[in-house]
Amino acid sequence: EQVLNDLANRDPLTGLLNRRSFITISNSYLEQANHNLTELCALMIDIDFFKKVNDQYGHETGDEALKWVAKKIKSQLREHDLVARIGGEEFAVILPSTTQTQGESLSERIRLAIHNDRFFYQNQALKLTISVGIITHKSGTNDVNELLAEADKGLYKAKSNGRNQVVTMAF
Ligand code: GH3
Ligand code: MG
Ligand code: MG
Repeated sequence: EQVLNDLANRDPLTGLLNRRSFITISNSYLEQANHNLTELCALMIDIDFFKKVNDQYGHETGDEALKWVAKKIKSQLREHDLVARIGGEEFAVILPSTTQTQGESLSERIRLAIHNDRFFYQNQALKLTISVGIITHKSGTNDVNELLAEADKGLYKAKSNGRNQVVTMAF
């Protein structure tokens, strides 16, 4: 809780966890999942064609768009789910005690929450979409970076399949 509340552990733009605190907390979630033999899902999320937003509307609008996407992701998550901004326009999510089917439907809800809405900025309505890679952890690794690397492969596939979609990876 102290880690969650410390501003040093948050991304100043979106208020989400930063990469470092996300990794720390995720690893303890992973340890618990291994101990209790519960499933856990890891998601990697990347905004599609985000460079265009900056190029067409400016960096400031891009920043506002990042905040909007962060809020949209957060709106679909439950109390114990973790979400971080781990790179420029990349987000990572950990869903504890979540099966693959549940994780996939939650990912789809996040994707649709963004796809079905518009980001309004200075009288302009922008359409944004995201691509998502997801992996389910059953038991084994204690290193969340391994899970994120697998989820990232799903994200890569989602991009090459045409973006605006969720791709599941199997270990
Ligand atoms: P793709 O669908 O393949 O992900 O295309 P993309 O344009 O989203 O991907 P790319 O990696 O080429 O571009 C990401 C862009 O995100 C580049 C950078 O200008 C922008 N970006 C990264 N961090 C920030 C930020 O903090 N603020 C703003 N406004 N833009 C950022
Ligand atoms: Mg990116
Ligand atoms: Mg992108």
